[in-house]
Amino acid sequence: MMPDKTVLLVEDEEPIADMLRGFFEGDGWRFLHTVTGEEALERLRTRQVDVVLLDLNLPGMDGIEVCRRLRTFSSVPVIMLTARDSEIDKVLGLEIGADDYLTKPFSPRELLARVKAVLRRAEEPPMEATVLEVAGFVVDSGTRRVTTPGGETVEPTAREFDLLWYLVRNRGLALSRAQILQAVWGYDYFGDTRTVDVHIRQLRKKLPGIPITTVWGVGYRLEAAEPSR
Ligand code: CA
Repeated sequence: MMPDKTVLLVEDEEPIADMLRGFFEGDGWRFLHTVTGEEALERLRTRQVDVVLLDLNLPGMDGIEVCRRLRTFSSVPVIMLTARDSEIDKVLGLEIGADDYLTKPFSPRELLARVKAVLRRAEEPPMEATVLEVAGFVVDSGTRRVTTPGGETVEPTAREFDLLWYLVRNRGLALSRAQILQAVWGYDYFGDTRTVDVHIRQLRKKLPGIPITTVWGVGYRLEAAEPSR
């Protein structure tokens, strides 16, 4: 439960808006809804909102432009809602500053899980935790070692560890190869994004059972593996 949080949905399809309103309000959220991006930007200038759900295809200003304009005055977490997987590719290439992407149709439960993941990331002070646990793997950024669920200690290479740490810190989120390269390798990478694939393969080999999922057309996600209640 995330008490006292406000979500703003920007969506022109009323049935989706109605469905999500019921779901989020049932989970204890304040739910705001606008049909156009112009209205949404106006709201966001004057009201405290904790997370924005932004449809890509809107009448008038599209979601890409809304996100761009929003980023000029706000760092509120944004989840883009797209109609097709292929649109995610297009949008990722533009680097508009959204935090996550979800393809329609999606289950409200999946959306809520993503919302909670972006909020957790937004609220976590960057250097607070040095030991994080995911699915029984204990990842220690101090010793740069990993303890497996079976109690074995594994020491990944420096780059592998940096990659793993980035995935762990952003667990539950779909991360594009470009995003990963920029965060872990530290520069804009114009060459071969298979570098990421190679390192992911190494991590999977060294840490059998690590829940790194391949997200088709995007990149990877380390599953948050939170037990459902
Ligand atoms: Ca739409």
